Amino acid sequence: MSDTKTAIKYIPTIGLEVHAELKTKTKMFCDSPNNPDEEKSNANTCPICLGHPGTLPVLNKEAIKKVLMVGHAIDANIADFTEWDRKNYFYPDIPKGYQISQYKYPLISGGEIGDVEITRIHLEEDTATSIHDRGDFSLVNYNRAGVPLMELVTEPVIHSAKQASDFGRELQLLLRYLDVSDANMEKGEMRVEANISIAPEGSSEFGTKVEVKNLNSFKVVEKAIEFEIKRMTKLMEEGRGEEIVQETRGWDEAKAKTFSQRKKETSDDYRYFPEPDLPKLKISEISEFSAEKLRAELPELPNQKREKLATVGIAENQIDFLVRNIEFGKYFDEISAAVSDKKQITLVANYLSSDVVSLMKDDGKVSLDNLDKKQFIEMIKMISGNEISSRGAKDILAILIKEGGNTRKIAEEKGLMQQSDTGALEEIAKKIISENQSVIEDFKNGKEAAMQFLIGQGMKETRGSANPQVLKEVFTKLIK
Ligand code: ADP
Ligand code: MG
Repeated sequence: MSDTKTAIKYIPTIGLEVHAELKTKTKMFCDSPNNPDEEKSNANTCPICLGHPGTLPVLNKEAIKKVLMVGHAIDANIADFTEWDRKNYFYPDIPKGYQISQYKYPLISGGEIGDVEITRIHLEEDTATSIHDRGDFSLVNYNRAGVPLMELVTEPVIHSAKQASDFGRELQLLLRYLDVSDANMEKGEMRVEANISIAPEGSSEFGTKVEVKNLNSFKVVEKAIEFEIKRMTKLMEEGRGEEIVQETRGWDEAKAKTFSQRKKETSDDYRYFPEPDLPKLKISEISEFSAEKLRAELPELPNQKREKLATVGIAENQIDFLVRNIEFGKYFDEISAAVSDKKQITLVANYLSSDVVSLMKDDGKVSLDNLDKKQFIEMIKMISGNEISSRGAKDILAILIKEGGNTRKIAEEKGLMQQSDTGALEEIAKKIISENQSVIEDFKNGKEAAMQFLIGQGMKETRGSANPQVLKEVFTKLIK
């Protein structure tokens, strides 16, 4: 008989909680600047975000609007009634002793991103930044305290680490397209927490979940989820299922392991209650928040961009590149509007996703702004018309990006114009033919490589300036 214990298959279930710092001029409840790049500690603070007694918060409409835009973009339900709540806990990073968040009435509920259903999206304030690694004391920087923070919660419908990170990337892209958040994981502008459980295949109940925090890149999101699935599966297989407890775990990058941080608080511990210092809102009564108006403001979204690019006739990986790299996507759109030829459009996508990107990686100072569109188009047309070789184009591109200039002039000055003048090339070809009679015999006897040799000689003779295609035609004609 087989061992039934090892035969059981466990299915992982994952739900994500994602925080994203919103890109607003000022903080959520005061007019202190919201600037994630501020280097001076505690520069962007005021009595309100420092939690001084007697101060009153004021709602930031720009932040509310940004969350509403996300709701419209994912076709979710937009709350008509909403309010804020106090989430009480004590920690130096939350100077009031409570965080203003939304509990019962989130701004957004439902909707989907890709294949993942969204439970809710609410708006709250970020905490201060605690610094613990400077000595046997801690420091707190309140620049981040009170920054508008969006929290998105997914349904437990994700079943693999890869699906979780794919979702995270798609959400990041959406936030960037909407210009709601820069959403850099590395900068903490977007933070992902993963809830993970496993249950025997076919089971109608979920297993006990753990929550893994502090995942600061998509790679780490994947690694931590994979680790947890393995850890829990092993415990189950060893009959130690009771050791899986509901808890918060952290990720230790050095050990590539998760570790227990604390047993999970329940919402009771936070003693949520409605924030008495802020007005309750009826969204439909506020003209700036009208659904019609906001929907009209929605920009092109990642999926729409994907669908549009799919009709252009470029490769899948180039579509992906242009969708993910917003600047490049915009640049491509503008160029392809000015270029009608299919071959040229393919060249544009090729050059943007390979040569242009690598030039920028090599030199951090240059950006797409350095690449004049008119000159770039001219370069593409010259390649497509065989006036310059792809080798020559590489050199021209580097000059265009680093120094600017006129494509045709650069090509001429650097001797990169391909010689397509058949008359001149015929003279050279005749000379080569007379000097290589045995090769000509080989070619006549069907040796294809012989033609390559002749073209090679022609390129050498013209110091690389001949158009190899034209050379081939000339040789073929003369040999006949
Ligand atoms: P809590 O009250 O512990 O915060 P919630 O019900 O608010 O739990 O859910 C938080 C997140 O955990 C959501 O993303 C949800 O999809 C996910 N989740 C809930 N139950 C499970 C489970 N058993 N396994 C995996 N994820 C779960
Ligand atoms: Mg929760």
